[in-house]
Amino acid sequence: MNNKLTIVIPCYNEEKVLPETIKELGDILNALIDTKEVSANSKLLFVDDGSSDMTWNLIEKYQYEHDYVTGLKFTRNYGHQNALLAGMETAVSSSDMIITIDADLQDDVNAITQMIDKYYEGNDVVYGVRNSRKTDTFFKRRTALAFYSVMQKLGVNLVPDSADYRLLSKRATQGLLDFKERNLFLRGMVPLVGYKSAKVYYARKERFAGESKYPLKKMLKFAADGITSFSTVPIKMIMNLGFFLVFVGIILFIYTLVMKFTHHTSVGWASLMISIWVLGGVQLISLGVIGEYIGKIFNEVKHRPRYRIEEETYSDEKDNQI
Ligand code: UDP
Ligand code: MG
Repeated sequence: MNNKLTIVIPCYNEEKVLPETIKELGDILNALIDTKEVSANSKLLFVDDGSSDMTWNLIEKYQYEHDYVTGLKFTRNYGHQNALLAGMETAVSSSDMIITIDADLQDDVNAITQMIDKYYEGNDVVYGVRNSRKTDTFFKRRTALAFYSVMQKLGVNLVPDSADYRLLSKRATQGLLDFKERNLFLRGMVPLVGYKSAKVYYARKERFAGESKYPLKKMLKFAADGITSFSTVPIKMIMNLGFFLVFVGIILFIYTLVMKFTHHTSVGWASLMISIWVLGGVQLISLGVIGEYIGKIFNEVKHRPRYRIEEETYSDEKDNQI
């Protein structure tokens, strides 16, 4: 039967939640295997993103106890998006469907069954969408809303309130992996792959244990990356600003001439200072935005590896050795 499922779980210093995560996901996976919805060789694939705690030791321990637990370990911390990508790249050739989910159990694991149902209804992509953000702080809720509306205005097609909890079929995963960019923003890339898609709604919970690995600084960087990796609208806005300022400049020029010829010659210091500061500011902002894009190009042309794996226990050859 062609229905092997791999659940990819990125983990960065998640020793506190991992035992519970393995238990809950294991229960779901076994239930799906029992009802023959997925094949018996379906797996959990934990991607250890360079954790400095006991995360990898736990993954190793559990994989001796349960043959459906597998893992891969990065040589250092490469970030959440790269961890997801590595999991998908490792699993794609032998899986028929891949689900990605965070390790912290904030996303309701019971939605997995509904995702599989939607897959069998013929969807290649099934998005997990939060229908409530009650557990998020007021600040996180506001910033998330603002982010989605900015992205929409910039013409980036995102599924609002869906994060990296989703199911992809084999061919959709392959489509996603054909995107060779280094600046990853997977939730923007998935809709670009196309195929028939569906949504599954769930309530987002509190983190089971441990702390968020996305502090404000990382979150802002992620949002900025999302915008500049997917939209050139900010550059166009600079151009429009430039045209507007030239227009204002022409009016000011005429005004100055009129003033001069009507002998109101106290033209002065104030307007000069204002122009210098305003223009200086606008130029710096513009340079900043352009610099941001050049930085992206710089990163892309270097073609650096997106991650490096130190150990891996997913592949079938290795399974046989154990
Ligand atoms: N994560 C990761 N590498 C990182 C940061 C986070 O693999 O550098 C993982 C983390 O272990 C978790 C998921 O990404 O499974 C989402 O992180 P978190 O729950 O801390 O983010 P939040 O839900 O607070 O946005
Ligand atoms: Mg979380």
